[in-house]
Amino acid sequence: MIPSDGTLLTIAHRDFAELHGISPLGLVVQGLRINCLLPVDAFCTMGVRLTYGEDWSQRLCLSKRLKAALLTMLPAASVLAPMWEPEHWQAFGDGHRHWRPMLTACPECLKSGYHSMLFQIPWVDRCPWHRVSLTTQCTTCSKPLWQSIARDTPPLLCECGHDPVSAEAMLHEPGELIERRRTSLTRYMVWALASRARRDVFGLRDDPRAWDVLGTRLLGTRLAWHESGTPNRKVLARTSTVHHPAPLPSGECHEDLARIASETSQAKDFFLELPVSVEKSMRRVSASIASKFPPDTFTERERVFLGITTGSATPAERQPRPSVILLAAYRVKDRLFFDGRILSKSVQAVLQEICLALAEQPGDQSRIGGYLRAYERILSRGYAGAAYHALSKLASPSSPSTAAFWRPVVMVRRRKQTSRLTILWLRDRPPTTDT
Ligand SMILES: [Zn+2]
Ligand SMILES: [Zn+2]
Repeated sequence: MIPSDGTLLTIAHRDFAELHGISPLGLVVQGLRINCLLPVDAFCTMGVRLTYGEDWSQRLCLSKRLKAALLTMLPAASVLAPMWEPEHWQAFGDGHRHWRPMLTACPECLKSGYHSMLFQIPWVDRCPWHRVSLTTQCTTCSKPLWQSIARDTPPLLCECGHDPVSAEAMLHEPGELIERRRTSLTRYMVWALASRARRDVFGLRDDPRAWDVLGTRLLGTRLAWHESGTPNRKVLARTSTVHHPAPLPSGECHEDLARIASETSQAKDFFLELPVSVEKSMRRVSASIASKFPPDTFTERERVFLGITTGSATPAERQPRPSVILLAAYRVKDRLFFDGRILSKSVQAVLQEICLALAEQPGDQSRIGGYLRAYERILSRGYAGAAYHALSKLASPSSPSTAAFWRPVVMVRRRKQTSRLTILWLRDRPPTTDT
């Protein structure tokens, strides 16, 4: 029972040495369950004040303040704290925190009230020691797990009556399971640390379907924590190698990149300044796309902007129409500008991600080289697709829309002498033939 002054000197808990890798949420759930307490008691017994309309996994795992409060009440839990840093679970050095925004758990682990921050990592889709798929829902009624924490019912007991936690399983975990868990987590941590040091990935953000292709297509290895299914979406893979040292990103160039990155992150309509190094490939793209159309498709002025230099006879002037001038990148003094609104939203998003990461790399020349090349490749291909579509509409406005909706995901792998880019183009939906 809780004393009337609202404090509790000790609560019973399991030996923390047996709970390797448990998350703050798992610890709180177990603490409440073992002591027959309710979520409403979480503050006075464990120091964490939470509301019931929020996902406790997110707050407990991500809030530094709540984790510190938990450790103040349960000092012995500090042996678990090194694994409470979301950064330690990341496998990429891109500076982005990859994290599932909703409580995700292994149904087998839940029986003992065990939850690990590993389960919130988006490329982990099965429990490495139970080998079952992770879930975000009640197995009986499909209600989101995070919603089964209410004021005055045992934590995680679902509204439908299904209780994923069993007191028996919680108190008597087999030693063999505890050992298997420790081994798997140690293996993951070693892998993640090594991977962070040499890999960055862009374009995965907030898209669970893209994570499916990560394990098989990007990482190229079978991971114990990933279900290697066959992705049922179209994937176009391109790889290329960038040699170090990359062609002179000078100090000045880095200042430009930092400015471009900050402007890109604020730009609402994606009217862009580009790194000057991409100018050549942008010109090549517009010229090569434009040359696929009959010579009389464009006015002379448009031909100049598009970089078609065949020098053929001037075709008759056509009816006035919306200008295609905005299509090509253009130079003002020593800066390069581009109307990025022509690009699909997913291409825009990835370019922004890379740009922000570029700005955060003050000294790492090899990284900058790899990122710049990835930026150039994605911009060029995204632009080629969009320009082809836009020019087709211009050449024959009544033609059906066949714009391809490919979204890029890119992994930059750094080695001593080279960076290796793997760019995947994922088709979100089949091409439509209707207008
Ligand atoms: Zn499990
Ligand atoms: Zn339920």
